[in-house]
Amino acid sequence: MKTKININRRFDSFQKYSLYQSLDDKSKDEIRDIGVEYKLTFQELKQLTDMAVDFKMWEEPDIGIQWKENSRQVNQSNKMFNKTVLNSIKNNWKSLKENETKYDQKSKRIYNSEARKLKEINGDNDVFGMCPVASEKTVCCNLRTIDVAQGCGLGCSYCSIQTFYENGSIAVEKNLKEKLAAIDLDPSKNYHIGSGQSSDSLALGNKNGILDAQLEFASNNPNIILEFKTKSKNINHFLKVNMPNNIFVSWSLNPQKFINNEEARTASLMQRLKSARLLSDKGILVGFHFHPLVYYEGWEKDYKILINNLMDMFSPNEIGLISFGTLTFIKPAIKSLRKVGTKSKILQMPFAEAAGKISYPMDTKKKIFSKVWDLFTPWHDKVFYYFCMEDKELWNHVFGKCYDSNDDFEKDLFDSVKVKLKLKTSINVN
Ligand code: SF4
Repeated sequence: MKTKININRRFDSFQKYSLYQSLDDKSKDEIRDIGVEYKLTFQELKQLTDMAVDFKMWEEPDIGIQWKENSRQVNQSNKMFNKTVLNSIKNNWKSLKENETKYDQKSKRIYNSEARKLKEINGDNDVFGMCPVASEKTVCCNLRTIDVAQGCGLGCSYCSIQTFYENGSIAVEKNLKEKLAAIDLDPSKNYHIGSGQSSDSLALGNKNGILDAQLEFASNNPNIILEFKTKSKNINHFLKVNMPNNIFVSWSLNPQKFINNEEARTASLMQRLKSARLLSDKGILVGFHFHPLVYYEGWEKDYKILINNLMDMFSPNEIGLISFGTLTFIKPAIKSLRKVGTKSKILQMPFAEAAGKISYPMDTKKKIFSKVWDLFTPWHDKVFYYFCMEDKELWNHVFGKCYDSNDDFEKDLFDSVKVKLKLKTSINVN
C-alpha cells in the first residue's frame, strides 16, 4: 500500500511535465496506467512520454499498443521487465529516426489550425536586418532581409517561422514604402536582400502595396539585388507590372511526395515550376532553393526526376542561383513542434549537433548533398550553387572548395547573379 501511494505521488508530480500535458486524454491515461502498474521511475515516464509524442506525430501505433506488444515478448517475472520493454520500444523509436523516413503518397497534410487572420503592423519596428538564421559558425552569404510581414499561412511542418511569431495571425506592414525609403544603404556597397525569411514573399500578394513598395525600393537602389522567395504560385502581380532589372524570384523546391506530407497550403511542385517558367518568359531571372533536402525512402529517385524536369524546363542562363540546405532546428523549435504535435514525420530523424543547432549527422548530409550536386552535373559551371547554413567540411567534401570568408561568398554570389541579370535583360525586353 505504501509503495502504491508513492507511485501515485510520483505520477502526480510527473504529470506537470509539459509534453505530457500536450498529449490527448487517451495517451495520458495509457502512460498513467503503465507508469503506475509497472512503477516506472520519473526518468522512465519522461522517456515513455517523449516517445509517445513522437509516435503520435509520426502516425505510428500509439504507446499503449507498443507497450502491450513488447510486453508479450518479455517474461513477466523478468526482474528487468520494465527496462527490457522500454528498451525494445526505444529501439523501434531509434530505428525509425535513423532509417530513411517512409512517406505515403497521401494527399495534402491535414492542417490543424484555422486559417490565419491578417493584422497590420503600424509601429516603428525595423524592417531591415541580417538573415535571422545566419551563424558565425557556418558558411553564410551575409543575406540582408526585409520583413514585409511577420508570420506565414502556408503551414510547412519544418518551418521555424511558426515558432517565432504569435500564433493565429499574420501581421503585414502598413507603411512599407516609407520604411524602405528610410533604410540607410551605402551607395558604394552591394547588397543581396531577400524578403522571404519572416514570411513567404509572394503568398500575400500585393496586400497593403508590399510588392509595389519593394519594386520601387529595388528601382531606387541599383546597388542591390532583391530576391523574392516563395512556395506559392502567386505571380499575377509580377506578370502585370514593369519589373526593375535588379530583382529575381526564387522557389523552394521539393519532391511532390514530401510536399504532400509536410506542407499544407503551398503550391504543388509543378505549379511552382510553371510559375517560374512564366516569369522567366517575361524576362525575370529565377532561382531555386533545395531546402530542406530530406532523407526519406525514395529520395534519390524523386530528386533525380525533379532535377531532370527542372533542367528540361529551363536553360541555365535563366537561373540566378541554386542553393541546397537541409533540416536544421534550434532546440526551442523542436520543443514547440512537439508541443503542438501536428501529424508530421519531420522530427523522425537522428538529432545531430550542428553548430549549436540540430540537423542530420554529417555523413547523411554528405550523402544527400553529394547526390543532388551530382544530379546537376551538366550545369555545374553554368549556375551559381551554394549551401545555406552549412559547415566548411560539407562544402569541401561536396564542392571540393570553400570560401575563406563570408565576405568572399557574398561577393561571388552578388557578382554571379548580376551577370545573369544582365544576360536576362539583354535577351528579354519587358
Ligand atoms: S547562407 Fe542561408 S542562413 Fe546563411 S545568411 Fe545566407 S540565407 Fe541566411
